[in-house]
Amino acid sequence: MLKAIQIVGSSSGFASYRFRKPQPNSAFSLISRKPILTTSETLLLPASQLHSHKSCFRDFRMSSTHSKSSSSSSVAVQSTGNIRKINFCQFCGGPNKHEIPDGEEKVRAICTHCGKITYENPKMVVGCLIEHDKKILMCRRKIHPSYGLWTLPAGYMEIGESAAEGAIRETWEEANAEVEVQSLFAQLDIPLIGQTYMIFLAKLKNPHFSPGPESSECQLFELDDIPFDSLAFSSMLVSLNLYIEDIKVGRPKFHYGVINKRPGTSPSDIHAYTLDFHMQS
Ligand SMILES: [Zn+2]
Repeated sequence: MLKAIQIVGSSSGFASYRFRKPQPNSAFSLISRKPILTTSETLLLPASQLHSHKSCFRDFRMSSTHSKSSSSSSVAVQSTGNIRKINFCQFCGGPNKHEIPDGEEKVRAICTHCGKITYENPKMVVGCLIEHDKKILMCRRKIHPSYGLWTLPAGYMEIGESAAEGAIRETWEEANAEVEVQSLFAQLDIPLIGQTYMIFLAKLKNPHFSPGPESSECQLFELDDIPFDSLAFSSMLVSLNLYIEDIKVGRPKFHYGVINKRPGTSPSDIHAYTLDFHMQS
C-alpha cells in the first residue's frame, strides 16, 4: 500500500500529484469550478428508484424542509439514532455501558472505568471517476464485500490526507494508475451505513494501468458498455448514472445526494434505494 505521495502545483491550475518522490515543501491548491445553476433537472434513474428535488445549493434548506420523501427520511432518522454496540473503551480498554449521557439525546458507549464516551462518526469514502478517450476506468474487486463486482477505484480516506489525495491514492492502489484530479463530481451520503462518498473527476496522467492487489481486472469501458449488471455498490450505480446523464446533455456537473436504502431490502441489492435531496450545480 502506497502511504506517501507528493503534491505539486501544476500549470493547469488543477491539483497534480506525483508519486514516489516525496518533497515536503511542495504546495497544493484545488481550484473549484464556478457553479453552473441549472433550470431543470432530469430524472436520472427510474422513478421508482428515487425522489428528485428541483433544487440547487441555494435551495437546500427549503428542499430539506419540504422533502416529500417520508419513507426514506424515516430510514435516515432511524439509522442516526441507532448505535452499534462498542463493548470496550477505545481510550483505556475498560468495559463500556450503553446509555444516554446527561445533556445528550442518543445512546452512547460510555466507559465504566474512565467515563469517556466513544463517539462513532461517518466514514469518508473517496474515489475517482476517470475519463479517458470517452471511456471510464473501472476495477473488478478481488476482495470482499462485493467480490468479483465492478467499481470505480475508491476507498476509505486516511487520517493525514485530503479527500483528493485519498482518491488519487486509492486509484493508484487499485488500478496502478496515476491520475490528475480535475473537480469534485459527486458527494453521496449513505446515512444507514454511516458513509459519505466523494467521487472526483480525474484524468489519466499516462495511459498505463493494471490491477492492484485488491483488483482482479481494470478496464476502460465505453459508456454503453459499463457493466451495470455487476456493479459493486449503490454509490457507484448512482455516480455512473449521474455521469452518463450529464454527458448526454453536455458536461459533468457537481451532484449532492443522499442514498437511502429501502427498508427491508438486502444490503446486497444495490438497486434498492432512493436518491434524496439530489442537488446539482
Ligand atoms: Zn475508558
